[in-house]
Amino acid sequence: MNLPSEFHSYVKPKKVISPKLAIFNDDLCSELGFDFSSFKPEDISNLLSGNTIPEGSSLIAQAYAGHQFGHFTILGDGRAILLGEHVLGDKRFDIQFKGSGPTPYSRNGDGLAAIGPMLREYIVSEAMHYLNIPTCRSLAVVETGEEVIREQKYPGAILTRISKSHIRVGTFQFAVIQEDKDLVNKLLNYTIERHFPNLIESKSKALDFLYAIIEQQADLVTNWMRIGFIHGVMNTDNVALSGETIDYGPCAFMDHYDPLTVFSSIDHQGRYSFVNQPIITQWNLARLAETILPLISDKQENALKLAEEAINMFADLYQSKWLDMMRLKIGLLTKENEDKDLISELLDVMQKHKADFTNTFRLLSENTLPDDEFFKAEEFLSWYKKWKVRLEKDLKSFENARTIMETNNPKIIPRNHLVERALKKAEEGDLETIKEYIQILKNPYDSQINIADEYFMPPNDNEKVLQTFCGT
Ligand code: AMP
Ligand code: MG
Repeated sequence: MNLPSEFHSYVKPKKVISPKLAIFNDDLCSELGFDFSSFKPEDISNLLSGNTIPEGSSLIAQAYAGHQFGHFTILGDGRAILLGEHVLGDKRFDIQFKGSGPTPYSRNGDGLAAIGPMLREYIVSEAMHYLNIPTCRSLAVVETGEEVIREQKYPGAILTRISKSHIRVGTFQFAVIQEDKDLVNKLLNYTIERHFPNLIESKSKALDFLYAIIEQQADLVTNWMRIGFIHGVMNTDNVALSGETIDYGPCAFMDHYDPLTVFSSIDHQGRYSFVNQPIITQWNLARLAETILPLISDKQENALKLAEEAINMFADLYQSKWLDMMRLKIGLLTKENEDKDLISELLDVMQKHKADFTNTFRLLSENTLPDDEFFKAEEFLSWYKKWKVRLEKDLKSFENARTIMETNNPKIIPRNHLVERALKKAEEGDLETIKEYIQILKNPYDSQINIADEYFMPPNDNEKVLQTFCGT
């Protein structure tokens, strides 16, 4: 499908000296229907490093803008190149290289990537997929055999990622500031055709599209809140209108529950802290709404009124999605007014006692409470009694609650200290640890799975990772 030419530039990946496959996603490869069985290993490395370009492909880097930490900037794929689209039945995927050399949008960057951050994106995006969260996927990481210079020298690498598209809120922001007034309309039609075909015939396309994106982003952020995921750079250029989680720079998972948790080294004000994520989602949606105002109605006042109504309903929509999600986390299927207080009380006790976010919910569904300080605390036990009464009213059987809880509360998340440990090994040349770790991340909800305690235990004090980096 063709986006108007304003939205991209034709580019060629930089040739690399000695590409070598570091990791390859066989499962994703077969899901996509690719068959590399006749390829020699070096053919795959050459293909996925951009050294060999498939015949007939025209590679592009995409233009976009974005609010970065609230400040508007013109951006674009500074180190990403779209190799092409892959069509599978009625589905269409972008295949993109990340770290394959400069583009017209690189500004002062070198267009390159170091192996650590590319493997990090691979691990976390795949973990997110298996946690049932919409996300871009990772097909492979190829080492380039070249060095990338950051605070020190690192081995260079290229990630191949697969997304439903790379249209962002920032793509609309870019369209608005071009001279062609019809460009936003063209982009809107393109996005609707690609992601919301049910709206093609709509009489109020722009408004319906806005509502569809509001719903989609409310679902996404609710999912992040379910598993303690902190994206870290929720700039408008990192909000994909496919509804997928993209841009795995400094993202991280929370260990002990603290709503103000921030990991990213550049998020000094806590703009993208755990608890702020829904508020920022609404802010980002407002930036999208601004770009399509003239398409919502010719009358400015009317357009503003309709867009405001849509954006304002996000708060209630999110609250109700969040509450339903939290109900499932504590095994409730029915709705009672008192549920919000019950959930808040648990979260307050968890925060006060620095209880592990993932394990607390998971352990609640066990028959007996674990022999652990938190579960013996008076405040917890007082909550526990109320919860048991509420459960009784809801399901009559603890078994039913357990099933609901086990499908909504992961046992395994990619904990920061384990991700860092696997990455460190990879940087020392051992890729087996990462591969083993990824295998474990594939069954995050499975209670039968027999894995070592270290994979679900929170870090001890000297293992804690307190800060993460963009890896740009
Ligand atoms: P991010 O914060 O990862 O969303 O990146 C913001 C922008 O910086 C994007 O447009 C990236 O393409 C660009 N960028 C990040 N790293 C590099 C790099 N090494 N070279 C060129 N552009 C980059
Ligand atoms: Mg980005």
